[in-house]
Amino acid sequence: MALALSALTSVQAQEAPAQEGLKPVKYVFLFIGDGMSSPQRQMCDNYLQAIGQPGLLMNSFPVKSPTTTWSANKLVTDSAASGTAIACGEKTNNGRIGMDASGTRNLESSAYVAKKTGKKVGILTSVTLNHATPSAFYGHQDDRGKYYLLGLDLITSGFDFFGGGAIDKHGDKRYKDNIGDVYKNTLKAGKDFKGDVYDLAKGEGYKVIHDQDGILNLKPEDGKVIACQKEGALPYAINHEGGLTLDQYLAKAIEMLDGDDGFFIMCEGGKIDWVGHANDCGSVLNEAIALDKAVKVAVAFYEKHPEETLIIVTGDHETGGLTLGFAGEGIKANFQLLQNQTTSRDRFRDEIYRIEHKKDLTFDEVKPIIEKAFGFKFDGPADDPMTVTEEELKLMLEGFAKDKKDYHNKALAPVVFKVFDKKVGLTWTSGSHTALPVITSAVGVNADFFKGNLDNTDISKKVKAILQAK
Ligand SMILES: [Zn+2]
Repeated sequence: MALALSALTSVQAQEAPAQEGLKPVKYVFLFIGDGMSSPQRQMCDNYLQAIGQPGLLMNSFPVKSPTTTWSANKLVTDSAASGTAIACGEKTNNGRIGMDASGTRNLESSAYVAKKTGKKVGILTSVTLNHATPSAFYGHQDDRGKYYLLGLDLITSGFDFFGGGAIDKHGDKRYKDNIGDVYKNTLKAGKDFKGDVYDLAKGEGYKVIHDQDGILNLKPEDGKVIACQKEGALPYAINHEGGLTLDQYLAKAIEMLDGDDGFFIMCEGGKIDWVGHANDCGSVLNEAIALDKAVKVAVAFYEKHPEETLIIVTGDHETGGLTLGFAGEGIKANFQLLQNQTTSRDRFRDEIYRIEHKKDLTFDEVKPIIEKAFGFKFDGPADDPMTVTEEELKLMLEGFAKDKKDYHNKALAPVVFKVFDKKVGLTWTSGSHTALPVITSAVGVNADFFKGNLDNTDISKKVKAILQAK
């Protein structure tokens, strides 16, 4: 495998692009959809157009380039290796953050290059701030599971704005019982423990702020800021749980970081991947649209500063092996049906699970949950696409029967999702990442520099060259 991959890499490797002709750029936005490749982006357009709306703004950018994603040691990358490639411009092994394949040499990210050139740096994500993708821009660890150490790397980066999900504290003393359990490779004992990450950040001059109003009221005079949830990732967009959204964090970051030397902002839609692993189409749709809302904030800024701004949107890899079109249904597509899904797969499964331990539970008692989550009609007219057919009902009843035997089977929820996928006209082929290339889009100053067939390492190389253009 390693041989084959290096051969591929040498075929694909491109000469470092000529740097003459690059214009200096004051403002650089780099958006990364974790688990977002062309099917995810195309599904959103199919849906939005089916309900009479324009497609994703990111899909309308003038430059759209296929981008390969493999890592140094695997055809299928993880977010650590791909994040490192996008941030630092070098292939590394899966699991490494900001380090080379051997795990011994630190790599420099475009964010550090931006900082050196005097720009302010913002790192934003809808998942936790020390998760693989964001940490690839500031961290150096041989294992992505070292969350606590990545939290320390975050603080020592000196970057100006961190926003979105919390700093995950696995590795923190209070979570000691989780260490080596939930994350097998996580920091083992307390020897590297230096204290609470947020307290340490405050000691290094960061203003750490978790409450919504406090974040919205931040002013540039507040200096270096960690503005994030106290715990966990941002809520799933589909569940509408409230709280600040990625686009709101981005608007605040722009306000905080704008100045004479400009800024570099990396903004990740991290949960597209999480719900891709769960093969949860409605949630993928909502997470990708949530990222596009943040892209809209950047585009509005670009329209005010068209001669000084560059926006790049890419993905780190595909997740779920999503395929659009379902041959069994005569390849008909009803993407507008996606609007019927009102809850994430996790929550739907939990709702069913909550009642399934009831001994004499009947399927009729489960039906309202299914109807509410997907708009299915168990007694609807035959020409209504949401009416559950005999065959579909049979599949659901089989799943239900398995759960009746032992509710730990959790067999019903995936069946319901499969039926929904079929009605919409899509299929999943994996619960993991795939090697499908992603799309890199660009608009603004030097956008043409991103034209052509790209590898994920090219993004960092090109961003670094642009940041250093005089
Ligand atoms: Zn993933």
